Amino acid sequence: MSDGAWFTIDKVNESTYIISEYRHPEETHCYLLCGSEKALLIDTGLGISNIYGEVIKLTDKPVVAVATHVHWDHIGGHKYFSEFYAHRDEQSWLCGEFPLPRAFIQKMLVNDCDLPSGYNLEEYELFQGIPGRLLDDGDIIELGDRSITVIHTPGHSPGHMCFWDEANRFMFTGDLIYKGVLYANYPSTDPQAYLQSVNKVLAYEPTRIFPGHHSLDISAALIEQVEIALQKLDGDNLLCHGSGRFDYEDWSILL
Ligand SMILES: [Zn+2]
Ligand SMILES: [Zn+2]
Repeated sequence: MSDGAWFTIDKVNESTYIISEYRHPEETHCYLLCGSEKALLIDTGLGISNIYGEVIKLTDKPVVAVATHVHWDHIGGHKYFSEFYAHRDEQSWLCGEFPLPRAFIQKMLVNDCDLPSGYNLEEYELFQGIPGRLLDDGDIIELGDRSITVIHTPGHSPGHMCFWDEANRFMFTGDLIYKGVLYANYPSTDPQAYLQSVNKVLAYEPTRIFPGHHSLDISAALIEQVEIALQKLDGDNLLCHGSGRFDYEDWSILL
């Protein structure tokens, strides 16, 4: 445990910020997208420090939270927001049906984590709540002078979403694409859907991608590298649960 800042803030441009949790080995990134009327926070992190306190230093607009998917490391800070959106296919995980027990999540939370001083693990609860809006593929989230498109990208989880900021050509990829180990091995994952989702995101031709975890020094070309690798695994009949781990230059996939 230690004092000091829990979040690290990076500015992408006048209306886009990255809020990262580097003191946990997951190195989760949350993204604040500000518009003229509203702001959107994509992912809210672990929820062991108040991300809303950081967000209001960066925008004076009302903020809606949304998670790329309902995994514990992306929805933790939802409790600090009066409104959040979620994908229809993960609504049940927000009301009692999340497939992992609390004790298991607590273990992942403290594993190698430099927790904030005084943090009491016993207070940790997996976030549960009712979304203010259920999202579907192709929906637009209007922020005033900025529109964000919802892309349903199942594979890592059934209701995983990437978010497309067309004006900037930014793609927020959550756990679909990042440098590190990609997970398509849990029962709730779908390796074939994963490949379709990578294809779908590739077609947008983003100039920058913003991942859910780890290095921010990441090229949009990584999407194509992942697509080629998964296509090859599929051709070899290996794109299925139980195939094991495959390592590439700066990323891996666990099936
Ligand atoms: Zn995840
Ligand atoms: Zn994640």
